[in-house]
Amino acid sequence: MMATNPQDRYDVVVVGGGTAGAIVAARLSEDPELSVCLIEAGPSDVGFDDVLQLRRWLSLLEGPIDLAYTTTLQPRGNAHIVHSRAAVLGGCSSHNTQIYFKPFPGDWQDWVDRGAAGWEPDGMEQYYDRLETKHQIVAEKDRNPLLLDWIPSAAKAAGVQANPDWNAAPFHDGVGFLDVGYDPATGVRSSSSVAYLHPIMGKRPNLTVLTETWVHRVNLEGGRAVSVDTDAGTIQAEHEIVVAGGSVDTPRLLLLSGIGPADDLRELGIDVQHDLAGVGENLIDHPESIIIWELNRPLPPEGAMDADCALFVNRLDRDFRPDLMYHTYQLPFTFNTERLGYPVPEHCICMTPNIPRSKSVGRMWLLSKDPAIKPALDFRYFTDEENYDEQTIVDGLKIAREVANTEPFKGWLKREIAPGPKITSDADLSTYGRAVHHTVYHPSGTCRMGAETDELAVVDPTLRVRGIEGLSIADGSIFPTMPTVNPMVATFMIGEKAADLVRERNGFRAHQAVAGD
Ligand SMILES: Cc1cc2nc3c(=O)[nH]c(=O)nc-3n(C[C@H](O)[C@H](O)[C@H](O)COP(=O)(O)OP(=O)(O)OC[C@H]3O[C@@H](n4cnc5c(N)ncnc54)[C@H](O)[C@@H]3O)c2cc1C
Repeated sequence: MMATNPQDRYDVVVVGGGTAGAIVAARLSEDPELSVCLIEAGPSDVGFDDVLQLRRWLSLLEGPIDLAYTTTLQPRGNAHIVHSRAAVLGGCSSHNTQIYFKPFPGDWQDWVDRGAAGWEPDGMEQYYDRLETKHQIVAEKDRNPLLLDWIPSAAKAAGVQANPDWNAAPFHDGVGFLDVGYDPATGVRSSSSVAYLHPIMGKRPNLTVLTETWVHRVNLEGGRAVSVDTDAGTIQAEHEIVVAGGSVDTPRLLLLSGIGPADDLRELGIDVQHDLAGVGENLIDHPESIIIWELNRPLPPEGAMDADCALFVNRLDRDFRPDLMYHTYQLPFTFNTERLGYPVPEHCICMTPNIPRSKSVGRMWLLSKDPAIKPALDFRYFTDEENYDEQTIVDGLKIAREVANTEPFKGWLKREIAPGPKITSDADLSTYGRAVHHTVYHPSGTCRMGAETDELAVVDPTLRVRGIEGLSIADGSIFPTMPTVNPMVATFMIGEKAADLVRERNGFRAHQAVAGD
C-alpha cells in the first residue's frame, strides 16, 4: 500500500482503480490544486508480468486476483459460469483480452432513448479521441496462418466484408483481425492503469493511490456522501466520492452501505441510509456459446492474445448494427464442454457465437449483511419472451458450421468436437448451445443511468446517485443497455466523461484549462 494518513481529507475520493476509476483519478489529478485519493482493493500492476503480458490473460482467470463471482441456478442457461472480475490496478482491463471497439453511434443513442440526455453519439466522440490507451489491429508478426485462412472462409460463408478497420467507421458486418490494446513489440497490454496511472504514480503529490485497500462503506450525513470506511480507516471527501467498483462491486458496496431497496435491506438487517429501488436491477451481459473443431495438424504459434479475430453478422438486418458476433479462440476454451464430457483436443479452434444486444435481463442482490458473503447474480439467461437470445445462438452455431465447410479453413479441420455432427435440429442445437454457454465477461447495468423521473435509475445522466449529494458512479454498472461490441472502450469513455462531469459540477477547472488541449 502506498503510504497515506488514513484520516486525511481529499477533494475527491475514487473507489476502485479499475477500467474507469483509474481514468477518473488520473484526469482529476491533472489539476495540481485538487487532492485525489484512489482506493483499489487489489494490488498494483507495476512489475506484475502475469498481468502486464497480454497473452497470459487466461492464466489469471479464477486465480488470486480474480474476485470470481458465481451465478444462481439458470433454468434456461448455464449456472456453472464463473464471472471473473479482476482486483488489481486497471481492474478488468488488466486481465481481459483488450479487444478494442469504439461503441456504435446507435449504442449511445439507445442510452439517450432511455433517458441519458447528454450522451448523444456526436458528443461522445471527444471522449474517444481523448483516450490515452494504445491499440492497433493485430500486428502482422502475430497473425496466425490458421486465422489468415479462416477470414476468407468466414467472409464467403457468412457473406460479410473481410478485413474492415473496425474503429475507422461503424460497420454493418465484417470479419478480420481485431483491434487490440497492446504493444506488439513488448506484448504489454494497454490497460487504464498502464496508460493513465503508470506515467504519473509517485510523481503527482496531489494523487494518493492506496492499493490492497477495500472500501467497506460509504457514509452519508444529511443526504450527502461525506466519507468512506476502508481497511486504512475512514477517508473523507470534501467534494465528491466517485464509486468505480464495477458492475458487481459497485451495487454491492451501495447495498452494504444501506443504499438500495429499503425492504430488501431491512430484511437482511442492514440500516437503510437511502431508499433506492434500482440498485442491483438491470443485470445485462453478452452470453456466448461455443463450437469446437480438432485440427488435423499442430496450431502455428503466432498470436496476440489467442482470440485474435472476430466475425460480425447481420442475420436479421433489422438494424444497421450487427446482431450476431463471434470470437475465435486459438486455444481450448473448453470450461463448459469439458464438464459435459467432451474431449479437449490439443490443437483446436473454437468459434463462439454471442448475442450483441441480448434481450434477457436479470438482477443481483445481497444474500447477507456479512460483507464476506458474495452477492447472488441471476442473469436470467435465455428468458426473453421472443426467444430472440436462444434463436441467435442456434443460428450462430449453424452459420459457424457453414464457415467450417468452406475452404481454405475447411482444410485445417479433422472433426467437429462439440456439439458434434449428430446435433443438428434447432431443438438439439438450442439444448447444447444453452448447456455449454458462457459469458464474454461483460456483466453490466446494475446501477443504470436514466432520467430523473425513472424510478429504477440509480444515477442521473450526470452520473450522480439519485437523491444523494456528493456521490456518483463511473463504471460499467451505469450502462442502461449493452453496447453491441465489447464494452471496455465504452467504460474508458465513461471514465473520461465522468472526470468532466465531476469538474463541472464542483466548479473545478475544465479539462482543456488543465491539459491545454
Ligand atoms: C476475462 C475478461 C475478458 C474481457 N475481455 C474484454 C475485451 O477483450 N474487450 C472488452 O471491451 N471488454 C472485455 N471485458 C470486459 C471489460 O474488461 C469490462 O467490462 C470492463 O473492464 C469493466 O470495467 P469497470 O470499470 O466497470 O470495472 P473494473 O475494471 O472491474 O474495475 C473495478 C475496480 O474496482 C475495484 N473495487 C471493487 N470494489 C471495491 C471496493 N469496495 N473497494 C476498493 N476497490 C474496489 C476492483 O478491484 C477493480 O479494480 C473482459 C472482461 C473479462 C473479465
